[in-house]
Amino acid sequence: MTIALYPGTFDPITNGHMDVVKRASALFDKVIVAVYAGSLKSVMFSTEERLDLCKKAIDGVFNAEAVTFTGLVVSYAESINASVMLRGLRAGADFDHEFDMALMNKTLAPNIETMFLMANIEWQFLSSSRIKEVAALGADVSNFVPTHVAEALRAKLNNQA
Ligand code: ADP
Repeated sequence: MTIALYPGTFDPITNGHMDVVKRASALFDKVIVAVYAGSLKSVMFSTEERLDLCKKAIDGVFNAEAVTFTGLVVSYAESINASVMLRGLRAGADFDHEFDMALMNKTLAPNIETMFLMANIEWQFLSSSRIKEVAALGADVSNFVPTHVAEALRAKLNNQA
């Protein structure tokens, strides 16, 4: 059984992340969406909120599960017997950072393979940070995130106003 771990901040989960999860679901026996729960400088949603939004988003993906993790991602992967670390790769934006991280993780845990799914062309320019930025300026982001995430963004921004 091949378990793929898809780690990230997911602040919040977007259609780009979901596209990776759905495609990975057809490739691996199990896909674990792992929300980083360590201290982060600037997140809009708490760990529990990010987890909850991920759980709702993957509800229809039969072999996907959402969890939180802290500490070294490769240690977490080993602890759940994940042999694949899954990441999404957008043109330009991600390569240097992902290459660096994948090499470090390979050194720390040689048995875990980092595998990349190229971001779907539709979501190449979609990032959680851009979504938060434009949502805060009043944009309708419902074409870019699941419905419940758009609602959560609206609620969060109304509370902050
Ligand atoms: P991190 O803080 O670890 O980069 P993110 O939540 O921003 O966490 O992203 C998690 C993973 O999803 C990363 O591999 C990132 O490159 C990928 N990703 C982010 N946005 C998209 C997208 N629009 N399409 C495909 N993959 C994406």
